[in-house]
Amino acid sequence: MFLTDFHTHSSCSPDASSSMLQMALAGAEKGISVMCITDHVDIDDFMTGNARSDCFGNWEEMRRQFGEAKEALKDLIDLRLGIEFGEANHASASHIEAVTSKKLDFIIGSIHNLRGYPDFFCIDYKSASQCENLVEKYVEEHFELVRLDCFDVIGHLGYTRRYMKRAGYDIGLGGHTERIKELFRLIRDGGKGIELNTSGLRDGTGSAFPELGVLKLYRELGGEIVTTGSDSHRPEDVGKNLEDGMELLREAGFRYFTVFKERKPEFIKL
Ligand SMILES: [Zn+2]
Ligand SMILES: [Zn+2]
Repeated sequence: MFLTDFHTHSSCSPDASSSMLQMALAGAEKGISVMCITDHVDIDDFMTGNARSDCFGNWEEMRRQFGEAKEALKDLIDLRLGIEFGEANHASASHIEAVTSKKLDFIIGSIHNLRGYPDFFCIDYKSASQCENLVEKYVEEHFELVRLDCFDVIGHLGYTRRYMKRAGYDIGLGGHTERIKELFRLIRDGGKGIELNTSGLRDGTGSAFPELGVLKLYRELGGEIVTTGSDSHRPEDVGKNLEDGMELLREAGFRYFTVFKERKPEFIKL
């Protein structure tokens, strides 16, 4: 099976500690054909949700590690360099320009916190209505994001369920179908895509991000660009549940999935 992992983190992310070489080696050992390292470049401070001044990523170290890993594993894996651009909808136009002008293969656009709120990981969830309210705001902020030409796919849509479920509130995207359909039309018409993030299949959530029903909606609305990613932050998680993810794509009606090179999509038969 042709496996691709387009969401992985190295020590160039604040929440991971393995080198790109270690991550890519794990990918090669697991039989992944094409892999993209997508370290965090987040606009907001994790705790406050306010924009940081040092949000541009450690580009020099990224390039150094990427060059080292690519050269060492050139016969084993097709390695690409991307980023996970967090909260781009909170960034100024010049911040966005500074990030998107970098030479990259791929950009995931993710929202990890609402404007002025801490990361979803840090919120104290106390009621189902509070969760529903936060999910509604989360969906709405994606409309700001999709208007910006600064990403290739939307990251882990609906991953808020991970943290809410841990707090005892199993709340997905089910209450927001009509808005999500509108969002998917904008994504489709803008030539952008979504990712199928398999981390939810190993972290106790019990579903991928987005969940199958939402993935089906995207396909039914003509969505074609979809990447697969483990969102691994350590070598042992590289490639995890990718085969399950590909099965979900088939179930949702996809016949192709996508990888990116120099920000351009390439389609691979499922
Ligand atoms: Zn993320
Ligand atoms: Zn990530």
